[in-house]
Amino acid sequence: MSVMPSWIDATTPLTTGCRWLVPRKEVPVADSPLTREGSTRLGPDPKRPSWGSSPAGIVIWGISVMSIVNLSAYELRVDLMTNRESISKRTLAVAPSATLAITAKANQLRAEGKPVIGFGAGEPDFATPPAIVDAAIDAARDPKSHRYSPAAGQPALREAIASKTLRDSGLEVEPSQVVVTNGGKQAVYMTCQVLLDPGDEVLLPSPYWVTYPEAISLAGAVPVIVPTDESSNFTVSLERLDAAVRDRTKMLMFVSPSNPTGAVYTEEQTRQVGEWAADRGIWVMTDEIYEHLVYGDAEFHSIPALVPRMADRCVVVNGVAKTFAMTGWRVGWMIGPPEVAAGATRFQSHLSSNVNNVAQAAALEAVTGPLTAVVEMREAFDRRRQTMVAMLKGIDGVACTEPQGAFYAFPNMTGLLNRPLGGATATTTMELAALLLEQVNVAIVPGEAFGAPGYARLSFALSDADLVEGIDRIAGLVSSS
Ligand code: PMP
Repeated sequence: MSVMPSWIDATTPLTTGCRWLVPRKEVPVADSPLTREGSTRLGPDPKRPSWGSSPAGIVIWGISVMSIVNLSAYELRVDLMTNRESISKRTLAVAPSATLAITAKANQLRAEGKPVIGFGAGEPDFATPPAIVDAAIDAARDPKSHRYSPAAGQPALREAIASKTLRDSGLEVEPSQVVVTNGGKQAVYMTCQVLLDPGDEVLLPSPYWVTYPEAISLAGAVPVIVPTDESSNFTVSLERLDAAVRDRTKMLMFVSPSNPTGAVYTEEQTRQVGEWAADRGIWVMTDEIYEHLVYGDAEFHSIPALVPRMADRCVVVNGVAKTFAMTGWRVGWMIGPPEVAAGATRFQSHLSSNVNNVAQAAALEAVTGPLTAVVEMREAFDRRRQTMVAMLKGIDGVACTEPQGAFYAFPNMTGLLNRPLGGATATTTMELAALLLEQVNVAIVPGEAFGAPGYARLSFALSDADLVEGIDRIAGLVSSS
């Protein structure tokens, strides 16, 4: 479908090297895991449709993502050609965020006048509740906000986060264990920096959120992909974890509700994973950013609350972005044992210093205020979730398990591959995403971005009307082809 830009070559490390669980093949490699030449590790299975871990995969990924998202092509060309030797291997190895790129591409096409419907966004379409905005306005007028504040976060906010954690997760922590960060994303990054050494392995259930493998690799560690599938509703089994664990396993990345699958672990499953990690002395980073977005019978549970002996080996990542429609404010946090919090504070004191004081004031209002707006948003998401799943299931060639949390559906779209759609044929979901954008102006995120070719992520955090129109367009294309 697309022509490879001449400035991408097979050695361009556009994404991170991972160790795949099974099946796999021994690949002896050289010195730095960041360049996929790490100390001896297991390489990708050539038969597995891994888009990021082989030269062919890299080329396909490069061609497809560049053609789908047309990522700042000029800048990337400059990076890769003019300054390539100057750029660190570490930086060259970082994959661009496919989700942000697709959202940017959809926005760009929209600005050009195309009637694009974007299912890519990982953010609520609601405005931040007014009381939170008012708190920020007051803070902006207060000269105290105009100065540096403690790197780990304002004391009042750290205290409020500790109280909120007890309220929402049943986990008791000291304010000193909380470090306020520039979004949950920075909390993920810093958790990896503080805990991981080069060569450490991190168990990463797939499909995974795009940032996890990059954050792991940027710490010099190796993501070990542990596959899950629809048969377990995309939750990871203890057998699969057992098969992946090795001497160098340091940490497990756990997220429930999950981005991208919407999976929510039951109380029993959550406890079992926590006990499993505790028995093996493995750290867990538990990403709880979607804690309030659960539907039907699903309930959110927190590993360190259910398994208290995990408290000194667990880092909780959370933030205000998803719960309070505050993605642009950039406030998240991590909660860990005292030495982890102290390490993260030292790290942050050099990396970024305090998070914007005005945004911290807004976050303080969010975590101390009522959850009324959250309940309303959740109701809207739930309604859209049901509409989306029903409509997707109605498309010949699409199967969809029901997401129980977050705001994403993760349909299996293999039935749309290798068949004519509007005069073209897609052989991968990467190509399918490009085809849909081109033919019906609908943006979806291909599963390849999450380590799950054959699937796609569609956010249902958009208006009911747009949601129906967007899925209708896909259905119309399929039924008319
Ligand atoms: N964790 C998960 C699973 C997410 O989906 C996101 C946002 N996409 C984050 C963390 C980070 O959120 P933020 O940095 O906006 O707080």
